Amino acid sequence: MSTSASWTNWSGGVTCTPARMAMPENEAALLTLFREAERAGWEMRVAGTGHSFVPLCTSGGMLLSLDGMQGVIATDPTTMQATIWAGTKIHQIGAPLLAAGMAMETMGDIDRQSLAGAISTGTHGAGPTLGSIATQVVGLRLLTASGDYLDCAAEREPEIFAAARVSLGMLGIITRITLRALPAYRLHEHTWVASFDECMDNLDTLIAATRHFEFFWSPGDDACAMKALHPTDAERWEQPDTESAVTGRLARYIHPDRVDWSYRILPSERNIRFNEMEFAIPAAQGPDCLRELRRLMREKHPDVTWPVEYRTLHADDIPLSPAYGRETVTISIHQDATLPHRLFFTDAEAIFRNHHGRPHWGKMHWHTGRELRDLYPRWDEFHAVRARLDPTGRFLNAYLRAELLG
Ligand SMILES: Cc1cc2nc3c(=O)[nH]c(=O)nc-3n(C[C@H](O)[C@H](O)[C@H](O)COP(=O)(O)OP(=O)(O)OC[C@H]3O[C@@H](n4cnc5c(N)ncnc54)[C@H](O)[C@@H]3O)c2cc1C
Repeated sequence: MSTSASWTNWSGGVTCTPARMAMPENEAALLTLFREAERAGWEMRVAGTGHSFVPLCTSGGMLLSLDGMQGVIATDPTTMQATIWAGTKIHQIGAPLLAAGMAMETMGDIDRQSLAGAISTGTHGAGPTLGSIATQVVGLRLLTASGDYLDCAAEREPEIFAAARVSLGMLGIITRITLRALPAYRLHEHTWVASFDECMDNLDTLIAATRHFEFFWSPGDDACAMKALHPTDAERWEQPDTESAVTGRLARYIHPDRVDWSYRILPSERNIRFNEMEFAIPAAQGPDCLRELRRLMREKHPDVTWPVEYRTLHADDIPLSPAYGRETVTISIHQDATLPHRLFFTDAEAIFRNHHGRPHWGKMHWHTGRELRDLYPRWDEFHAVRARLDPTGRFLNAYLRAELLG
């Protein structure tokens, strides 16, 4: 990054021109930049990969990238823990962990996010027994608004630790993250197409029987691309590439069966730019919510051809986690980044609202601070920690002040 340039997120929908952009290479350099921002009176934000669709990373003051602070710092196969620089991209973690006989419990759809960016918004994958990536965090280091580095964990500064795991950069700058890991494991990937009714009829069984189960419902075909991943002791293999009978929107989600290390199976490629809205709703309401979205798309928005993604997520205890305190289904809708999305997303948000949905922090929504507060039983507790650590709001930008806290 250089000075006086502009920054744009992945989808192209969010831009800003900070007074200063910088990429520190270590914690001492980060502290020097912090002092510079303090002298100038600048707000400070950090961008990971910029995959969030809402203006979380924008800054009129200083915008940092921690791309200079990447890599696995230490692995401990005895405790099954790994300490990793916060700017590390998730795709940089799998191989060094495997070398130590370890693996991340799970990850999201892709592996391009920074580790700090992913945990900060509650990024998750699929599976009823699996929490978001933030639930794998057992400790982290923060540069706080007082200019001090603070290490926190369940047994050390527990209030700050509880809040910091999903904190949108509001508590300070995360520099190191310690993750709980699993012994390295392989996954078998099976994908297939089912009609909408067939998918709904078998949903509970498939979810209960599969470590990672998810599907994409395609409105044009009224069919679902199903994906089931199971741990296996089988060695690496890939079914010979027979020509797929699946064409159109669903084709990109259907692959030959394969087996490989978990970090090679879990992520997919997402090369077409889109905008996205995702809500976390109580698991029992997932099927009804999807049916209502299906009706909305068929009756009012037949022009939207992007599939809808349906995943499960285990309840957790993180104050700002969308899965806080409840078994969860997440439903995501998409629209091409070059096409209008506002009308469709606003209509869908009304459906999600009726199901007590909590918006994904990194994805589009128009919930007010008051509405969010009603959705999160520990909202005030989080903000008390935030106000104590950063009383003058050095780590807040205009979006956070006006939209999320206002
Ligand atoms: C193609 C695509 C696929 C996606 N797939 C999934 C998915 O499967 N599951 C899912 O849940 N989400 C998914 N998302 C959403 C995405 O994972 C989140 O938006 C995530 O936050 C992106 O990580 P990032 O590194 O780009 O973070 P950014 O968007 O750059 O930042 C996110 C937040 O983290 C903060 N932050 C970043 N680094 C630090 C730091 N060092 N210290 C403090 N705060 C920091 C930022 O200030 C910001 O508030 C997807 C998004 C895209 C574009």
